[in-house]
Amino acid sequence: MVILAVLILSSMAGATWLPCSFFAMSLSSAERNNLIKAAFEAKDKAYSPYSHFPVGAALLALDGAIIQGCSVDNASYADTICAERVAIVKAVSDGITNFRGLAITSNLFSAISPCGLCR
Ligand SMILES: [Zn+2]
Repeated sequence: MVILAVLILSSMAGATWLPCSFFAMSLSSAERNNLIKAAFEAKDKAYSPYSHFPVGAALLALDGAIIQGCSVDNASYADTICAERVAIVKAVSDGITNFRGLAITSNLFSAISPCGLCR
């Protein structure tokens, strides 16, 4: 699995998107905007009744496909799964293992990074 570019994004609901980190291979404006939009859409599907911290992620595959993932809380917290892992598991289970970008969003105004397991 290769992730060549990482976008880490965060925003308040309805506020301007604030990309804070961008590495490696550049994406076109359209690819970047579509990836960010998909991450926000995914965040809206997050299941976060315990953490109250919804997170969305979107992976851009080499073929241009976008795979979304959202955080899924578990009452035990330890079994909570992060948005980026949901997206990666969805992609791999469909045979997609090479990626060009990843966008991650939350409701925080400040930037977020991938979770501790994914860093
Ligand atoms: Zn993670």
